[in-house]
Amino acid sequence: MNAARPADETGSRAGGRRSREATEVDAGPLPARPQAAEGPRPGEGHPGEGGADADLAVVGAGILGLAVASALLARRPELRVVVLERQSSVGTEQTGHNSGVIHSGVYYRPGSLKALLCVEGARRMYAYCDRHELPYERCGKLIVATEQSELAMLDTLEQRGLANGVAGLRRVRGGDLAEIEPHARGLAALHVPETGIVDYGAVARSLALGLESRGGAVVCNAAVHTVERRRRRIVLHGERGELRARGAIFCAGGWTDVLLRATGATSDLRVVPFRGQYLLLRPQARHLVRSLVYPVPDPTLPFLGVHLTRRIDGNVLIGPSALMVAAPDAYRLGRVDRASLARTLSWPGTYRVARRWWRTALEEVAMAASRRRLVAAAARFVPELRAGDTMPGPAGVRAQAVSRSGELVDDFRIAEHDRALHVQNAPSPAATSSLALAELIADRAEPYLNPA
Ligand SMILES: Cc1cc2nc3c(=O)[nH]c(=O)nc-3n(C[C@H](O)[C@H](O)[C@H](O)COP(=O)(O)OP(=O)(O)OC[C@H]3O[C@@H](n4cnc5c(N)ncnc54)[C@H](O)[C@@H]3O)c2cc1C
Repeated sequence: MNAARPADETGSRAGGRRSREATEVDAGPLPARPQAAEGPRPGEGHPGEGGADADLAVVGAGILGLAVASALLARRPELRVVVLERQSSVGTEQTGHNSGVIHSGVYYRPGSLKALLCVEGARRMYAYCDRHELPYERCGKLIVATEQSELAMLDTLEQRGLANGVAGLRRVRGGDLAEIEPHARGLAALHVPETGIVDYGAVARSLALGLESRGGAVVCNAAVHTVERRRRRIVLHGERGELRARGAIFCAGGWTDVLLRATGATSDLRVVPFRGQYLLLRPQARHLVRSLVYPVPDPTLPFLGVHLTRRIDGNVLIGPSALMVAAPDAYRLGRVDRASLARTLSWPGTYRVARRWWRTALEEVAMAASRRRLVAAAARFVPELRAGDTMPGPAGVRAQAVSRSGELVDDFRIAEHDRALHVQNAPSPAATSSLALAELIADRAEPYLNPA
């Protein structure tokens, strides 16, 4: 194992490079029943059988890992690409536990990676869904200001949207909200027609099938435990044995830090899990929301606030809350992973976040404990909403990078360390942006794959 060295956290530097236009993930027609492969390509050996060789190893079969593997295989079809996933199927963590929104790009600071990649990513996501006949709806979103103090931020969002190239933005007066969302109330709103909804779990399964149809391998039940350097190879040891590759890309979401350490890198960021609890509207109350209704976000937080989201399956979500928890897979509130908890508690940034955001944290605890509090947050802009209109819903856990100084890192961050790239911060809208972010990561990984 290499001695610990600081990783090169170059999110902003990479931001100067636009994602490649030419290569888009294309998987051709899909079989009816998606399934993950049990091993690498025939004839290439199996990580459980004395080890296997690959050109590129990707760790994590969430939407990002699969998009990165697909992008590299689209550029270099001769590559042996293997994706290793600890779960028994793909897209089961953040990718399968989110709001399912294809964001438009209005929220993000112009020039940031999020701004660049969300607009381009949404364009690619719609095109991908069209090509693969995956259901989506470009249903639009209403961002509603309910207090005078929020109007300036609504202006900012409109300006950011224009600067980022979001099409069709329209300011709506309070009295005209009902034309778009009959049950919404507020002082003013921003209508964003480019926003849409999709099932990102289905997108991930489709990407996995596409990869396999082009000779890539997606190996499930294949957790990576340790990482070793051997001459010009990176060797991944795990549940299925040994995989030797010329380069590795780690897209491990909430487990990023574990793998970063395993490669011998150190970092000034740590991923802290924030649980988001949703409620569901009962069927008889779904008429209260046509598409998506959001509050004006707090500009100092990377979360968008409790919103109402129609899902592609017709359900309507209310949420999510944002509560710091003790495991990256704390889908149950009481779940504790001791190692994850120790990582969070031993990080100075955690205490700085707690000191700075204690009021917000108390509010989040209240929302986690009380359905009424969560409903009240959404009733600010849909006042007819009652706690009785809701039932328990799903939960997701965000992998949010926190700096040593207690900053909740807003933009995407990628760290590089000796033939390995680590996606260190890929919070929302990383699912929307995945197909564009993957091209940027592929640009940086390509040098590892050139002949020695
Ligand atoms: C509550 C919530 C709401 C959100 N809403 C939206 C939204 O509406 N729109 C949007 O664009 N984004 C949204 N996001 C963000 C989005 O879901 C994530 O940014 C995106 O899914 C990140 O994808 P990923 O592939 O990086 O991570 P993940 O989906 O978490 O995948 C990481 C994978 O790595 C695997 N892994 C970890 N460790 C190992 C190991 N040692 N060996 C092998 N495999 C390993 C995990 O099992 C997992 O499958 C939301 C997120 C949450 C939590």
